[in-house]
Amino acid sequence: MRRPILVANWKMNMTIAEAIDFVRSIRLGLNDIKGVDRVLCPPSTALAAVKDLISATEIGLGAQNMYWEDKGAFTGEISPVMLTELCQWVILGHSERRGHFGETDGGVNRKVQAALAHGLKPIVCVGETAAEHEDYQTGKVISGQVKGCLVGLTAAQVAGLVMAYEPVWAIGTGKPATAADAGAVIGLVIRRVIAELYDEATAQAVRVQYGGSVTPANIGVFMAHPDIDGALVGGASLKAEFVDLVRNAAKAKGL
Ligand code: PEP
Repeated sequence: MRRPILVANWKMNMTIAEAIDFVRSIRLGLNDIKGVDRVLCPPSTALAAVKDLISATEIGLGAQNMYWEDKGAFTGEISPVMLTELCQWVILGHSERRGHFGETDGGVNRKVQAALAHGLKPIVCVGETAAEHEDYQTGKVISGQVKGCLVGLTAAQVAGLVMAYEPVWAIGTGKPATAADAGAVIGLVIRRVIAELYDEATAQAVRVQYGGSVTPANIGVFMAHPDIDGALVGGASLKAEFVDLVRNAAKAKGL
């Protein structure tokens, strides 16, 4: 069985002081939930403080983005080498990076390769826009993104990846995809493309999350789908209810 993984994407929220207060309030509850990976992704300014607070727990820590070079004249960027001092995970290719900051599949691919080269664990995001969804382009768009993000990776690297299917129209809207639709995209597009590029074992090994308006109330339905291995959570990860969300996710997988 693939180990479920729940990831908190705080986006550009929380000062260091707020992050400290919040993590103090959730860390015991979060740490008590067994059988799942749970990862906090605060803004980079709060990574060091959160790292200290969770050092004695099994809670993972991740960044929300990084650049692919190790160091140099890249003002404002953070390198994989720098992140290895702070965390184990990194979200790459989030739709807000793609939409607001012009990230492309090619750039995401370079970042994925750089993260893996430095022992960071990437969470690779894909997802179609509302217009693409309404135009019945979901399969084509997701398949292109998966292929573009995985260029040059070995089967072993892909098998160890976490991917997140996040339809852009479901993010922060309170209108999640249905579990059946999300599971179909994950099973019939993402895993199918990986099986074609690599093999069936690799497609079945990669962990794929759903993301988009996930809450403690609806997580169980997503987790009940056999192709959905967890969730990438935005809004609901900024509140203490994130602990309930992770607990409900574990329960739904029978853990
Ligand atoms: C996200 O930021 O990846 C996300 C899914 O946000 P939300 O849970 O708020 O929809």
